[in-house]
Amino acid sequence: MEELLAYEDPMHEGNSAKYLTGKRCIVEGCFRPACTMWSPYWCFKHNVERIKKVNKQLRAFVVAEQKFWDQYERHVCENESLS
Ligand SMILES: [Zn+2]
Repeated sequence: MEELLAYEDPMHEGNSAKYLTGKRCIVEGCFRPACTMWSPYWCFKHNVERIKKVNKQLRAFVVAEQKFWDQYERHVCENESLS
Protein backbone atom coordinates (compact mmCIF):
# COMPACT_ATOMS: atom_id res chain seq x y z
CA MET A 1 0.00 0.00 0.00
CA GLU A 2 1.19 3.44 -0.82
CA GLU A 3 2.05 5.54 2.18
CA LEU A 4 -0.20 8.52 2.77
CA LEU A 5 1.33 11.93 2.36
CA ALA A 6 0.87 14.26 5.31
CA TYR A 7 -1.87 16.31 3.68
CA GLU A 8 -3.92 13.22 2.79
CA ASP A 9 -3.49 11.55 6.17
CA PRO A 10 -6.51 12.34 8.36
CA MET A 11 -4.44 11.47 11.44
CA HIS A 12 -1.68 13.94 10.60
CA GLU A 13 -1.32 16.88 12.93
CA GLY A 14 -1.90 19.28 10.04
CA ASN A 15 -5.41 17.88 9.78
CA SER A 16 -6.11 18.00 13.50
CA ALA A 17 -8.60 20.13 15.41
CA LYS A 18 -5.75 22.52 16.10
CA TYR A 19 -6.32 24.00 12.66
CA LEU A 20 -10.07 24.29 12.83
CA THR A 21 -10.99 27.80 11.81
CA GLY A 22 -14.61 27.67 12.87
CA LYS A 23 -15.50 28.46 9.28
CA ARG A 24 -16.99 26.30 6.61
CA CYS A 25 -15.17 24.93 3.63
CA ILE A 26 -15.39 27.41 0.73
CA VAL A 27 -16.46 24.75 -1.76
CA GLU A 28 -20.08 25.32 -2.68
CA GLY A 29 -22.39 22.77 -1.15
CA CYS A 30 -19.74 21.52 1.27
CA PHE A 31 -20.66 21.87 4.93
CA ARG A 32 -17.54 20.40 6.46
CA PRO A 33 -15.39 22.61 8.63
CA ALA A 34 -12.35 24.28 7.08
CA CYS A 35 -9.56 22.76 9.04
CA THR A 36 -6.15 22.08 7.60
CA MET A 37 -2.64 23.34 8.13
CA TRP A 38 -2.30 23.72 4.36
CA SER A 39 -5.19 26.08 3.95
CA PRO A 40 -7.75 27.71 6.20
CA TYR A 41 -10.33 27.69 3.42
CA TRP A 42 -10.89 24.05 2.58
CA CYS A 43 -12.05 21.02 4.52
CA PHE A 44 -9.80 17.97 4.72
CA LYS A 45 -11.35 16.24 1.72
CA HIS A 46 -11.33 19.25 -0.55
CA ASN A 47 -7.84 20.22 0.53
CA VAL A 48 -6.58 16.78 -0.55
CA GLU A 49 -8.36 17.13 -3.89
CA ARG A 50 -6.97 20.62 -4.34
CA ILE A 51 -3.36 19.63 -3.62
CA LYS A 52 -3.61 16.59 -5.86
CA LYS A 53 -4.86 18.76 -8.69
CA VAL A 54 -2.07 21.27 -8.19
CA ASN A 55 0.52 18.48 -8.07
CA LYS A 56 -0.82 17.06 -11.30
CA GLN A 57 -0.62 20.44 -13.00
CA LEU A 58 2.90 20.96 -11.70
CA ARG A 59 3.97 17.57 -12.97
CA ALA A 60 2.51 18.30 -16.39
CA PHE A 61 4.35 21.59 -16.39
CA VAL A 62 7.67 19.96 -15.46
CA VAL A 63 7.24 17.37 -18.21
CA ALA A 64 6.48 20.10 -20.75
CA GLU A 65 9.51 22.08 -19.59
CA GLN A 66 11.74 19.06 -19.90
CA LYS A 67 10.48 18.41 -23.39
CA PHE A 68 11.18 21.99 -24.36
CA TRP A 69 14.76 21.88 -23.09
CA ASP A 70 15.38 18.50 -24.67
CA GLN A 71 14.30 19.90 -28.00
CA TYR A 72 16.27 23.06 -27.44
CA GLU A 73 19.43 21.17 -26.62
CA ARG A 74 19.01 18.91 -29.59
CA HIS A 75 18.52 21.95 -31.77
CA VAL A 76 21.61 23.70 -30.39
CA CYS A 77 23.72 20.56 -30.70
CA GLU A 78 22.64 20.08 -34.30
CA ASN A 79 23.60 23.64 -35.10
CA GLU A 80 26.92 23.29 -33.34
CA SER A 81 27.79 20.22 -35.31
CA LEU A 82 27.28 22.22 -38.49
CA SER A 83 29.74 24.94 -37.61
ZN1 LIG B 1 -15.11 20.83 1.55
